[in-house]
Amino acid sequence: MATADQAQLVVVGGGPGGYAAAFHAADLGLRVTLIDPEKNPGGVCLYRGCIPSKALLHVAGVIAEAKEAAAAGVSFGAPKIDLDALRAFKGGVVERLTGGLGQLSRARKITYVQGRARFTAANTLEVTGPEGTKTSLDFAQAIIATGSRAATLRNLPDHERVMNSRQALDLPEVPKRLLVVGGGYIGVEMASVYAALGARVTIVELTGGLLPGADRDLVKPLEIRIKGVLEALWLNTKVTSAKVQGKTVTVEVEGPDGKKKETFDRLLVAVGRVPNTKDIGLEALGITVDDHGFIPVDLARRTKLAHIFAIGDVAGQPMLAHKASHEGQVAAAAAAGKKVAFEPQAIPAVVFTDPEVAWCGLTEEDAKRSGVDVKVGKFPWAASGRALTMGRSDGLTKVVAEAASGRVLGVGVVGPGAGELIAEGVLAVEMAAVAEDLALSIHPHPTLSETLMEAAASVFGKSLHYLGR
Ligand code: NAD
Repeated sequence: MATADQAQLVVVGGGPGGYAAAFHAADLGLRVTLIDPEKNPGGVCLYRGCIPSKALLHVAGVIAEAKEAAAAGVSFGAPKIDLDALRAFKGGVVERLTGGLGQLSRARKITYVQGRARFTAANTLEVTGPEGTKTSLDFAQAIIATGSRAATLRNLPDHERVMNSRQALDLPEVPKRLLVVGGGYIGVEMASVYAALGARVTIVELTGGLLPGADRDLVKPLEIRIKGVLEALWLNTKVTSAKVQGKTVTVEVEGPDGKKKETFDRLLVAVGRVPNTKDIGLEALGITVDDHGFIPVDLARRTKLAHIFAIGDVAGQPMLAHKASHEGQVAAAAAAGKKVAFEPQAIPAVVFTDPEVAWCGLTEEDAKRSGVDVKVGKFPWAASGRALTMGRSDGLTKVVAEAASGRVLGVGVVGPGAGELIAEGVLAVEMAAVAEDLALSIHPHPTLSETLMEAAASVFGKSLHYLGR
């Protein structure tokens, strides 16, 4: 049996980037050691990010749908929420998935080492195990996949009532009043969860709208709907100070109407994430990070040292699990001697709120900014039969096509299930489809997928069910 210290390839970090790299490298015949502090692979995404949040968002969706069924003549009583059972449901999903990854890792004969790794020389690292024991390990090649952690705000106290997403996902309680600081991915998702569970939630966002950077046409339906479940949405506003007093937190904010003070039971801070590049011994490798804290890499995800790769959240934006997973596989293939490059045309982004917001490739605003001449086709879901049967006419599907060729450069969708629908957009962009390809492909009726076909047809003013642009 191979011992850890003879490992050909060491992968540091077992999240969606690291475990994908380790699995692919093992499939390509490399001897692999995977190191992570948790008992099984999974990382932030599976243990305290994407997966537990989606389990909770699923429950939030059920609560919302039950309420809305009243409009179709079906009424349910107020939901009774058993937090212990909800935590157990979420924990069960996490346990099953991470346990499954452990099995997949063992089946591939990967040496899994539980602990934290720190590089000590160009081909050596030290692993500190859960009990504090230190082991030295030599390697021929390494992939750094240490991910990211929640950013903090200096003017907020370090206290259990001031939570980050990890603590909020543990569901310590349903606070009566919750202030979510940051209206990005995590802010809107967690605000939706806590509002559905019965908290009065306010979001405070520094910029003029939720999800800065996303297409405004897509964000608008989310803003309208989320305002219906929030106590307040404070835009262009920043938190200047916060003080914990007993079981409450008094916050001072400064916005368009000047300064005000309000008291909440808890705060949830979601103001971005910071790559985990400290305390991993980069200095022993002579690797320095760029101005944004990312490890510079080439197309194959090689750092300045040819035998060391970096992938996922430590290697640049977007900090998304699926981007990390693909980068991981590219780095693994490069480590196995293959000529590969990470050059996606479209990395989808999905915000799992109600409605979901999803996009890929070029947005209309990107096109304007970079001077690309585009034609945009839109299809409002008010014209979709399927959307109306679901009582959801607030969605929108958008196709951004190159004006001269009709080539699909970007797709955006807002509405229930947008996260699933966007996959077709990714395929269209990656395969260099023209809008006509989408418009002429027969989509099943009656489904929301028809909105993509109709938005593509709308690029040429040929949508059957929508005459606008
Ligand atoms: P984010 O960058 O998406 O949003 C942070 C928000 O906080 C921004 O809107 C920003 O304007 C605002 N902000 C910054 N400082 C502020 C302040 N002082 N007061 C008020 N608002 C402030 O970051 P996030 O929501 O923390 O998510 C982190 C990362 O995690 C994202 O970049 C994303 O890649 C990933 N993520 C993805 C998903 C998903 O794919 N569905 C879900 C959650 C997280």
